[in-house]
Parts: sequence; C-alpha cells; structure tokens
Amino acid sequence: MLDKVLIANRGEIALRILRACKELGIKTVAVHSKADRELMHVRLADEAVCIGPAPSAQSYLNIPALISAAEVTDSSAIHPGYGFLSENANFAEQVERSGFVFIGPRAETIRLMGDKVSAIEAMKKAGVPTVPGSDGPLGDDEGDNLAIARRIGYPVIIKAAAGGGGRGMRVVHTEGHLLSAINVTRTEAHSSFGDGTVYMEKFLERPRHVEVQVLADGQGNAIHLYDRDCSLQRRHQKVLEEAPAPGIDPDARAKVLEACREACIEIDYRGAGTFEFLYEDGQFFFIEMNTRVQVEHPVTEMVTGVDIVREQLRIASGLPLSIRQEDVKLHGHAFECRINAEDPRTFMPSPGQVTLYHPPGGLGVRMDSHVYTGYTVPPHYDSLIGKLITWGDSREIALTRMRNGLDELLVEGIKTNTDLHKDLVRDGHFQQGGVNIHYLEKKLAS
Ligand code: ADP
Repeated sequence: MLDKVLIANRGEIALRILRACKELGIKTVAVHSKADRELMHVRLADEAVCIGPAPSAQSYLNIPALISAAEVTDSSAIHPGYGFLSENANFAEQVERSGFVFIGPRAETIRLMGDKVSAIEAMKKAGVPTVPGSDGPLGDDEGDNLAIARRIGYPVIIKAAAGGGGRGMRVVHTEGHLLSAINVTRTEAHSSFGDGTVYMEKFLERPRHVEVQVLADGQGNAIHLYDRDCSLQRRHQKVLEEAPAPGIDPDARAKVLEACREACIEIDYRGAGTFEFLYEDGQFFFIEMNTRVQVEHPVTEMVTGVDIVREQLRIASGLPLSIRQEDVKLHGHAFECRINAEDPRTFMPSPGQVTLYHPPGGLGVRMDSHVYTGYTVPPHYDSLIGKLITWGDSREIALTRMRNGLDELLVEGIKTNTDLHKDLVRDGHFQQGGVNIHYLEKKLAS
C-alpha cells in the first residue's frame, strides 16, 4: 500500500480523500493556499504545506509548488481530486517523471480522452455508442461541411475538440447559419483552448444526462458500478444527481454498461472514470469521458457499497480490484444535492463566515462537507460547500430522507442554494423521475 499521499486539492474532496487514506493507514499531506489555512482537512492531515497565495493559478494549479511539496514531505503519491489539475496530462506526466505515483490514469489516457475527437474515435472502436456526427475534425472545405450537416440532419452542434466546462459549443438550426457558426467556434476554440479543432454532432433536443462509473486496475480487470442520472443542470453545471438512473430501457442499459467495461480493457484504462452519455428515446450516445473521481461519486457508493476513493488508492498501490463484476450488486437508490454558497435566486456566489452549521443525520443520510461553525468560505474558489447524500431501499424513501435532510440542514451567515433543492425535491416531474437536461433551466425561467 502507498505510504504517504499528498492531496492536491481543497474543500470537501480533500477531506473525502483524507478519510479514505486514514482508513487504509496511509499518511497524508495537505497542501493549501494562504486563504485555506482553516480548512478541515488541513487540521486533520499528518503534515500540511502552504503552496502559495490565494489565487488557484499560484497555488492549486502551480505544478512546481506541488511537486516541491511532495519532495519535501517525501510523499509517495499525489491524489488530484476533481477540477484543478485532475485532468491535466502534463501534470500527470511531471508527477510520474519526478518519481511519484499519480493517482489516476496514465498521462496518455488523459490526453486521449481530453481531446474529444480522439476520445470519440477510441470509443467507437471499442463499441461504445456515439452521437451521429462528422467522424473526426471538420476540414476547411465548405461544401464538405454543408454535406456533413445535411447527412446528419439539422439541428447540429459544433463543438471544440479541446472544449470543457460547457464552453466551446454552438447549436445550428438551419443551413444558412452553418458556415459562420463553424468559423466562430473555431476562432473561439483557438483563443480559449489554444486548439482550433472543431467537430460536428447531431444536436439532441431533449436528452437526459446519464453516466456510467467504472473502475479498472490497469492489470486487465475492469468493472462498471452502474449508472447515475445528472440531468438537473444549470449552465451545464450539475445540481442534483441520483443513482441508479430511473426508467432506463433495460436492454440498452445492459449493453452500454458492458460496452463501458470492455472499453476500459480496450484502452488499457487505470483508475476510476466516468463515461458520460446523452440518453434519448431509449438510446445512449457517448459525449465524453472524465478520467478522475467525480463530485457525484457518493451516490454510486451508496447503491453499490463500493468505496471508490479506496479503490483508487488500492489501484495506485499496484493492487488488483478488490471486487469482481458479479459481486457488484445494486441496492436501493441514492440522491445527492450539491450545496453551494450562493444566492438561491441570482446564483451569485456568497462567500463569508458560517456563523452556524448543523448537518442533518440519521439512517441513510451522509453529509460530505468541510464546513464547520466559524469557518469562512473564501471568495477565490468554486462555491461548493458540501454534498447532502441520502440513501433508501426505494427511490421514494431516499427522496423522503432528502426532503427531511434539507429541512434539518442549517447554514447561517452566508446564503446557500438549499431552498432551491427544497423546491426541486418536491417538484412533481422530478418526483416521477426522468426529466431531461433542460428541465431545471425551464423551471427557473418560469
Ligand atoms: P463539456 O466537456 O464542456 O462538459 P460535453 O461534451 O460534456 O462538454 O457537453 C456538455 C453539455 O452540452 C452536455 O451535458 C449537453 O447538455 C450539451 N451537449 C453536448 N453535446 C450535445 C449534443 N450532441 N446534443 C445535445 N446537447 C449536447
């Protein structure tokens, strides 16, 4: 087992990783910016190193500072969490070149999946269903591009190969707008991502976002941990997730789960990962793969009993997966509400001191949060302050526990989006299950 892990992240995920390390008897190193001395995991870690000033670019994204911190603390591995450098292939490469284990896939895999065109190509080859599209980057020939769109059928979406975070995409409804949309997306992609490669896909009008969690040990073993539904989104940011995804066609689901598992073996995947799909009319369409642990991983842990971060640490230690596919059993249903420090109506961030914090509790209730009474939420980072996760034998019980949990949760001194969640878990359509990715924005608009 790894001896000492440096946690290259902050907030709730840093605490989550610290907990898994402690369970496995692994020593921990917390790194933090000057604004983050008061973080809960910094207090609990065996060692703590300040890596720079508050802005992320000078601290959590500062590769030389992170590598030096690993050197001075004699760490054996670095866990990147999510966000920050977690999907940065150069970081993974430099970590390994400096003699540390990167807790994640190999740099080549991150690079392959980070470019959406190469990711889609690899998935097609592995038998994972993809969105009908241009099959590769768009060239400069206008006639060819018009022909591709005609073959796919309007509406289409032009996407940057290097895009991320919901940026670098443009929907085109009519032929008259196609060529200018390609040019604008290309120029934007070039300036935002340093890569002007764009491709075209059929634009699906009312899909759900359904994703598949996988684990692979890089030694030829891979398993899937079933699916999650993350359709409730605002500006492409997930708000509330559940596992398993309700009301999915059983045959399509069985096929896609197996295809993801096989794709991991095909691309020689290592670590935890997520295949993201759009699901419409009983069909799955791959859009991208996340090569890291995701914010919403706890809902999968609740319904499978598998500790995903523990498996990441075991895999990075060179151990094989501790479970076989046939041992993964789905049990019950789980929800996760992302609690953000923000105004529930305007969505403006609301940093500041938490004057009172009381997390909910009880059977089937889990609160993953780094917050405590007196903690000050700094203004420099994203606004996630915790995740309320509930589990139940049935979807109905899990949802009832979520309603009760949200009522119990007290966060005073700052604004949070708890009231939005209280509304959502009482929404009739959401209660039925299976709303599409536009549902939340439409509800907010009305
Ligand atoms: P990013 O890496 O920026 O998150 P994705 O490829 O995952 O980009 O797409 C982000 C979101 O954009 C999706 O969750 C979906 O809402 C929308 N989207 C992407 N591709 C399509 C498509 N072909 N049809 C409809 N919506 C799409």
